Amino acid sequence: MHDDIEKVLLDEQQIIAGIDKVAKQVTEAYRGTEFTVVSVLKGSCVFASDLIRRMPIPLELAFVSASSYGDGTTSGQLDLNFFPAEGEIRGKRLLLVDDILDTGKTLSRLKGELMKRGAAEVRSCVFLDKPARRAVEYDADFRAFEVEDLFVVGYGLDFAGRYRNLPYVGSLKKEAYAGLVDG
Ligand code: 5GP
Ligand code: MG
Repeated sequence: MHDDIEKVLLDEQQIIAGIDKVAKQVTEAYRGTEFTVVSVLKGSCVFASDLIRRMPIPLELAFVSASSYGDGTTSGQLDLNFFPAEGEIRGKRLLLVDDILDTGKTLSRLKGELMKRGAAEVRSCVFLDKPARRAVEYDADFRAFEVEDLFVVGYGLDFAGRYRNLPYVGSLKKEAYAGLVDG
């Protein structure tokens, strides 16, 4: 285990079991329809790549980027960058895939923007859901795990840009926050 991790909340086996389950639900929901998985960078790249490889149906892949400025563990100003061309959005059924649904601001804004750009439908699938933290009304259509109100890293989730490559989800030791926030 990494020195900065206090506790592992989800290990690799648990993660894979949860993704297998949600991938089956998504597969059945979209079987026979054309759709595009829209991975929200950077955090969802690990989840999205494991998820789509467990969905044996035709799909397309696109990316958007959402960054929340504000250091540390609370979200601040949200900045959206769109990479899909208009033709990849207009008239399409889209499945937003994100690492974690927290206040709900990111996914509800992304959904609004995609609908404004002509998407036919926008649903979402999240790796983690923290329902206790919701600030806007937004629910994911699919989720792999519900987690308690605790800041977590790993499996795509970062703190100050680090820890995305951990193969598990864990909480950080206090020293790890202090070193980066104050330093
Ligand atoms: P929301 O807009 O729903 O508040 O937040 C979504 C974004 O906040 C996530 O994509 C993620 O970047 C960040 N976030 C929220 N909770 C956590 C957490 O526990 N750990 C990490 N690393 N990021 C989080
Ligand atoms: Mg994110």
